[in-house]
Amino acid sequence: MAQGSLNKATLSGSSTNDNRKVDNFARRQKLSQHRRSLPIATVERRLIDEVRKNDILIIVGETGSGKTTQIPQFLFNAGFCKEGKSIGITQPRRVAAVTVAKRVAEECGVELGQRVGYSIRFEDVTSSSTRIKYMTDGLLLREALLDPYLSRYSVIIVDEAHERTVQSDVLLGLLKNVQIARSKSNGHLDTETNKPKNGMVLEKENDVQSSIFLKHDQGKKFPPLKLIVMSASLDARVFSDYFGGAKAVHVQGRQFPVEIFYTFHPEPDYLDATLITVFQIHLEEALGDILVFLTGQEEIESVERLIKERVLQLPENNQRLVIVPIFSSLPSEQQMRVFASTPAGYRKVILATNIAETSVTIPGIKYVIDPGLVKARSYDPKQGLESLTVVPISKAQALQRSGRAGREGAGKCFRLYPESEFDKLENSTKPEIKRCNLANVILQLKALGVDDIIGFDFIEKPSRSAIVKSLEQLFLLGALTDECKLSDPVGRQMSKLPLDPVYSKALIVASEFKCLQEMLITVAMLSVESMFYAPRDKLDEARAAMKFFSSPEGDHLTLINVFRAANEFMEKKNLTCGKEKADKILRKWCKENFINSRSLRHARDIHNQIREHVQQMGLRIVSCGDDTLNFRRCLAASFFLNAALKQPEGTYRTLASVIWPQWDCGKLLNHVQTDTRNHHIPYNNVFFQHLQCGDIAAGRVWYFQFGVELVYVLASTVFQKLS
Ligand code: ADP
Ligand code: MG
Repeated sequence: MAQGSLNKATLSGSSTNDNRKVDNFARRQKLSQHRRSLPIATVERRLIDEVRKNDILIIVGETGSGKTTQIPQFLFNAGFCKEGKSIGITQPRRVAAVTVAKRVAEECGVELGQRVGYSIRFEDVTSSSTRIKYMTDGLLLREALLDPYLSRYSVIIVDEAHERTVQSDVLLGLLKNVQIARSKSNGHLDTETNKPKNGMVLEKENDVQSSIFLKHDQGKKFPPLKLIVMSASLDARVFSDYFGGAKAVHVQGRQFPVEIFYTFHPEPDYLDATLITVFQIHLEEALGDILVFLTGQEEIESVERLIKERVLQLPENNQRLVIVPIFSSLPSEQQMRVFASTPAGYRKVILATNIAETSVTIPGIKYVIDPGLVKARSYDPKQGLESLTVVPISKAQALQRSGRAGREGAGKCFRLYPESEFDKLENSTKPEIKRCNLANVILQLKALGVDDIIGFDFIEKPSRSAIVKSLEQLFLLGALTDECKLSDPVGRQMSKLPLDPVYSKALIVASEFKCLQEMLITVAMLSVESMFYAPRDKLDEARAAMKFFSSPEGDHLTLINVFRAANEFMEKKNLTCGKEKADKILRKWCKENFINSRSLRHARDIHNQIREHVQQMGLRIVSCGDDTLNFRRCLAASFFLNAALKQPEGTYRTLASVIWPQWDCGKLLNHVQTDTRNHHIPYNNVFFQHLQCGDIAAGRVWYFQFGVELVYVLASTVFQKLS
């Protein structure tokens, strides 16, 4: 009997193994067929030749042609990873780095983290055997701090360069220097002309900001670095010009005709128009997946809920819709769902932010719905305020979006605005470096030894006033000395933390004032989107739940209460079960307490990561217990740039930055300690339209009160609303 059952088990075991092998084999075959069918497959040899001939190559190709997934594999197979060197590919977005790395590992038939891996802030899935490494551009900038010659890479590919994120713009400037320095180190630079012998042309004699390199590895020889800049849009010229006339090659993509539809009139409610269009397509058009461009997580989640509600009202045979959201902060297992094939007879509706414009190529799309909006960063250097606002897209973005419908066959794009509005759109999107706070980037450049920020060879220079403003902020945070050099230890420590300078400062000052444990939690909790949620049908319950956590000492302490309550709960459960089960238990707790479980889990992850960073830096993690005064002082000493003054009519005005230069942070600490009521603080006349009631419930506003009249509004990124 025992024998029999054993046999049976072994038998069934081996047959599942066999099945799995067959499945794997079929999957591998399908993948390799897919790879061969990509437009880029036909030009593999030519591309490799061009990379061999040119130290810098610009590759332009339509989205979906196979640039991101295939080119690194071509290079690997062509022997570009000899002597343990790697190929690094940077992406502007974490989502792209993760999904693409997973895909490429699968195509190569290797385990993720082995030959193919990825590294993003707070998550490193690589090993010593990783040769193809996807990462965010910000991460590569950080690597340059430790390894200024980027010596482990033979090739660096800057992907999605057309996105023109701050980090990728800065990275291009840095890579230009690294390339020249490496050529110099091994005599590849023509000493007479100061040009690398093959390919690149320097514009100025002093193009290499040599201070970065002189300190390090002097006399050491480095093999030349190959640089590839990849872009989906048409404008290769700016990159080519920037690199002194570098060679650009075009990869033909597949593009079938896309029929464009406009609305007759402007839509008063584009979300409603989106819903109507989704169902119109679903009920009237042939099968094929729909891609909807929305502006952010909250919008995506509410549209998802509305579609799910309405689909249930359809006759049963019309209910075959699969809805998949994709946005940056979605956990990566869930992001991968967009790539799962749609069950037969079903239609997939993908609700995406602009990451689906070019970063992530989703197969199967036949219809695109484009409300024509995007959430973008904007920065007002005068006030020193950065905000995320919903703005119209550019014509180039509209074209990219509609193009997504025609990769596998003819498609349709529904623009939810009249054609006359399209004509009014800007031709292309303004590079981010022209519209964001530069403090972070400047801190990193300073740490890399680039002292002359205004003279740095940016592909497009940010305005002088934005640079000055950001320098001023860093100065106020104590990161720069009077001579505008990185201060030691504060500035240097700040540059080591992969965080917004304000957060870094908060941690450093908190370690001094013995409340780092609280500040770690605060920074982690502020790094994620809304912590509380209040479903419309349970508003009262949600409010009551929130009250339970809320602290009269401010929202930061409220957040700490939430974090600790979750920790205590999990500890009490003494979970020895696996991660999956623990996650499930935590999700349940979140639901009962009206906490956004995705945000909380994300915050717990970030907390662990930052804790490691500060421990490595040797900071002591101590709690201030119930005496939160020092903790609140530390908040004020680091978040003071977000301070606003409450007006009698209930609105808020930001404090003028002119006040701050009079204080260093030590003085500021003293200042908040004293009675602030009699202190005349000048403020400017900005009227905050968007300061209204309600957002506290969404968890986006953080306030802090001293005395009666002065209210510091400490938003994580933007001033939002305060009740
Ligand atoms: P490009 O960089 O030129 O836009 P990619 O290399 O990203 O192109 O993608 C090429 C093709 O590979 C896409 O059209 C898509 O069909 C497929 N693909 C890419 N990533 C994934 C993934 N994670 N899962 C399934 N298919 C993918
Ligand atoms: Mg790509």
